[in-house]
Amino acid sequence: MTKRVGVIGGGQLARMMIAPAVELGIEIRVLAEQEGMSAALAATAVGDYRDVETVRAFAREVDVVTFDHEHVPQEVLRALVADGVAVHPGPDALRFAQDKLVMRARLAEIGAPQPDWAPVRTRADLRAFLDEHGGRAVVKTPRGGYDGKGVRVVDHEAGADDWLAAFGGEPILVEELVDFRRELAQQIARRPSGEAVPYPVVETVQQDGVCAEVFAPAPHASDRVVEVAARIAADIAGGLDVTGLLAVELFETTDERLLVNELAMRPHNSGHWTQDGAVTSQFEQHLRAVLDLPLGSSDPVADAAVMINILGGPQGATIDSRFADAMRDQPAARIHTYGKDPRPGRKVGHVNVVGDDLDDAAYAARAAAAFFA
Ligand code: ADP
Repeated sequence: MTKRVGVIGGGQLARMMIAPAVELGIEIRVLAEQEGMSAALAATAVGDYRDVETVRAFAREVDVVTFDHEHVPQEVLRALVADGVAVHPGPDALRFAQDKLVMRARLAEIGAPQPDWAPVRTRADLRAFLDEHGGRAVVKTPRGGYDGKGVRVVDHEAGADDWLAAFGGEPILVEELVDFRRELAQQIARRPSGEAVPYPVVETVQQDGVCAEVFAPAPHASDRVVEVAARIAADIAGGLDVTGLLAVELFETTDERLLVNELAMRPHNSGHWTQDGAVTSQFEQHLRAVLDLPLGSSDPVADAAVMINILGGPQGATIDSRFADAMRDQPAARIHTYGKDPRPGRKVGHVNVVGDDLDDAAYAARAAAAFFA
């Protein structure tokens, strides 16, 4: 019988599950926030993912519910589980991706390496943390942040007043300002029955808090870094009972320590390279994992893969008009688009180039992406 996967959220991550679903004969349905979203190519219902009855009705039509984002409220998730719906990842895992303070506390319990951190309720709390950490630190809103919004470097006790007020007595998060050499990301897929398959660790480069480039596998990563990154992800996936895809964002320090920055429990921008650069793409792997099917090989198909995000473009322009030029100029480039209206800084697509030389792949991918700038 055809398996039906329901994806909550109509963004590009849901959209990119459609192609592998078609290939595998899996039926995919999407609960989108509004009409005409990125994933509208799939059978799409439109409704509010915060409304229990809307989500219940959507869940009745599918064999498993999974996600394009982590914002579905716990009450809604728990209602589905109480109804007997298969939800992957489940609410007990997802809460660690929904709230950075809850995540930090849980990572401490399982012994995952992470920056020093503390909950902050008052200026005095922040002052104390700054005093202990050289006068500078990073404050974060525990919930609702994305692409660097909700993250700020502070050097004085009043630096988080607005967020403290907005959270009305609930704590926000403060972390040591990590002097990292670079940022890495480690993905792992895990099935409900326990099988877990890691991907190669990758390097991610952010611009203005947004992922801009990914290099896979991470260039010059030592054997130790490769091994430790995979072990951290396996410990977190198992320890937090994550099902589906988990991405662990990591800082690599100059003395080669790895510290966990944050978690995503769904396909992730750091894994888009797998569409063209790995035997099994993260999108196919996620579908297999949430359906508790055997996982595919995560081996790279070439020595190097580079992913460049296409960010924004002039308001009102459609990126279609530049396709032919990019295709003509860079025939090795694999162009992926999200069907979204370009707005400055918005992720509207990406380019993957796979090959035997990292610099050549990076050149070609950047050259192709530049046509859409
Ligand atoms: P978001 O949830 O918006 O993606 P992150 O927590 O990933 O926010 O932070 C965004 C970026 O801010 C990170 O990619 C990193 O470059 C920087 N950053 C976050 N936390 C720290 C930290 N403790 N020390 C130094 N830089 C940090």
